[in-house]
Amino acid sequence: MRIFLSNRTGSIQREFQHEIEEKSKQNLDRCLGCGACTGGCPNVDFFDYSPREIIAMIKLGDKKKVLESETIWYCLGCYLCEERCPGRISIPRVMDSCREMSLVEGYEAARENIVLFHKLFLTQVARYGRSPETLLALLFNFKTKDYLRDADLGRRMFLKGKMKLFPERVRNREEIRSLFKEADFRGVLLK
Ligand code: SF4
Ligand code: SF4
Repeated sequence: MRIFLSNRTGSIQREFQHEIEEKSKQNLDRCLGCGACTGGCPNVDFFDYSPREIIAMIKLGDKKKVLESETIWYCLGCYLCEERCPGRISIPRVMDSCREMSLVEGYEAARENIVLFHKLFLTQVARYGRSPETLLALLFNFKTKDYLRDADLGRRMFLKGKMKLFPERVRNREEIRSLFKEADFRGVLLK
């Protein structure tokens, strides 16, 4: 079945795709719709739209749906999908671009506090070169006033050595800070 679009509708659709392609430096026309990305994604059960659907929605110009989806925030950036993609599309980069656009253009995040968590994570990376789990969890619970959230899970992880009390320092922290400065993360990093 062929679908005919008016020139204007077509150009609005393409505009969102072009914006994402420009930011992520990816060519989404290379997507074959094969679903290999979705088949290999370890987090897909938590997504409201699969990675394949996100790419298809971008190409259809469904900007609001994409930028308010849970998927763009729950993507782990693990790059498994990129490894499998026959079109060599870096989906994590696409997700990053969607998150950035969603923040900058003020789209509503699908879940309360998801943006706060994201900002806290990036702030720790900018500060320490990594995001120490204990500090991240404490700050998140403090900011959301849910002081004992996941306390039992945290205790068990701590006892198994999966969470450290003090953040490990990384080398070249200045280099990391200057990368953040160059990328202009104003409005994203927290004080
Ligand atoms: S694996 Fe690549 S080509 Fe296949 S649906 Fe996903 S993005 Fe498209
Ligand atoms: S990078 Fe994101 S979309 Fe791709 S496999 Fe990992 S979690 Fe899934």
